[in-house]
Amino acid sequence: MANEDKFKKVISHAKEYGYVFQSSEIYDGLSAVYDYAQNGAELKKNIRDYWWKAMVQMHENIVGIDAAIFMHPTTWKASGHVDAFNDPLIDNKDSKKRYRADVLVEDYCAKIEAKIEKEIKKAAKRFGDAFNKEEFVSTNGRVLGYKEKIDTILKRLGKSLENEDLADVKALIEELEIADPMTGSKNWTDVKQFNLMFGTKLGASAESAMDLYLRPETAQGIFVNFLNVQKTGRMKIPFGIAQTGKAFRNEIVARQFIFRMREFEQMEMQFFIKPGTQKQWFDYWKDTRLKWHKSLGMGDDNYRFHDHEKLAHYADAATDIEFRFPFGFKELEGIHSRTDFDLKQHEEYSGKKLQYFDHEENSSYTPYVLETSIGLDRMFLAVFSNSLQDDTLEDGSERTVLKLPAVLAPTKAAVLPLVRKDEALTKMAKDIVDDLKWDFNVIYDEKDAVGRRYRRQDAAGTPFCITVDGESIENNTVTIRHRDTMEQKRVKVDELRDIIKAEVDVKHWLMKMK
Ligand code: ATP
Repeated sequence: MANEDKFKKVISHAKEYGYVFQSSEIYDGLSAVYDYAQNGAELKKNIRDYWWKAMVQMHENIVGIDAAIFMHPTTWKASGHVDAFNDPLIDNKDSKKRYRADVLVEDYCAKIEAKIEKEIKKAAKRFGDAFNKEEFVSTNGRVLGYKEKIDTILKRLGKSLENEDLADVKALIEELEIADPMTGSKNWTDVKQFNLMFGTKLGASAESAMDLYLRPETAQGIFVNFLNVQKTGRMKIPFGIAQTGKAFRNEIVARQFIFRMREFEQMEMQFFIKPGTQKQWFDYWKDTRLKWHKSLGMGDDNYRFHDHEKLAHYADAATDIEFRFPFGFKELEGIHSRTDFDLKQHEEYSGKKLQYFDHEENSSYTPYVLETSIGLDRMFLAVFSNSLQDDTLEDGSERTVLKLPAVLAPTKAAVLPLVRKDEALTKMAKDIVDDLKWDFNVIYDEKDAVGRRYRRQDAAGTPFCITVDGESIENNTVTIRHRDTMEQKRVKVDELRDIIKAEVDVKHWLMKMK
């Protein structure tokens, strides 16, 4: 399936199976705002829990907080967001469409990247088993040329953005002859900066109202609470504070479903460390976070690191973990070495000391910070799009199956009486649901022929179907069917709990990080 078709299928499947709806759909929706439906809310919660368990529960030196979305407005002055949380925008004069100038250039590079992939595929076919990808990529003239081109373009973009040289960003777009992806027009306006924060007001009367922002990231709620948590938790450096919660950005272009939203959720962790140790912790968190992703079994070659050329004003190193989305490799998570920038800024703006007293060294210092920041919705899209597959079965028929990692699946098992009209079967099936629901999210489903029910549960991502038939009444056994292999096994009802647990238990999955 072409990538574009695949992405369309992801969006329609998410709606059809109760995962994601457009916000306020009856009023024709709100651009780049989405609602999570009955299954989506469960999947989202399970992803959040999986992250929280890995970060907070599994690390004795990481604690979690839940800070408010509203923060004192000076926070955003101190953090640099009021002055510098901008994206460079450019308009096309003919189509009147608005774009992020940096994204236009990056997409141009992604096209060159696709050419490299094509060369690799061609060569792999030509050389067969003897093909050595690494050697090919580092010696083939054409590939090296493409790589150099990408490198030169991105370096120039990074430099111009860093120097606020927006005229050069426009010049770059013109030199590369980048056209409006919707219309092909190359008639561009100048590049301008656009602040992404949403403003609002606090207070009853217009005169006394205070200008506030909806937080554009959760991180600042952690920084301003750094000392409170350190003191009340008696935390010793190195230690981390984690948080999940909503963030808001008035994104210039938001066309990729839940990849880029105006209201979204982040899962962030700030790790406070001794100055000078940031390189070591940067490597540690790169490695640890990648292991977390890989533990979900979504294909190791679907991830790659992308080190930043252009560093944000607060960072001395930064990398993205990119994932292969249906529209190509894109940022899923950021890992940033934020130095002592944030704490120093909050010290300056609040006039309060935000330092750590190191008993072993008998001295105080402002800690450095290593941040891991992942979008929950983006992670949802990664999991959902990667899991949606069309299988061709042995008899040539097709089935659509959502092969969600079982630990994340909204419903772990569906219990199905073979026939609806047999009261003994329906009662036994309902009793099984009543028993299993203490441990897992399970559902009862009696509508339609059993084959159709299997397909429905496959498409909804349910890892197990448990079928109650005539024999079940006689000997207290049921058949359990596995979503991915479609294998069916007759087992005792008493064994169900352990069979399901073995596959959906968080421990089973997180142990893969070891
Ligand atoms: P991008 O370059 O895609 O705009 P960013 O570098 O601005 O992302 P960060 O500020 O590092 O993103 O935010 C951390 C994470 O939050 C990102 O890796 C992404 O997963 C998520 N995120 C950021 N913006 C959005 C958004 N508009 N919608 C959904 N998730 C987002």
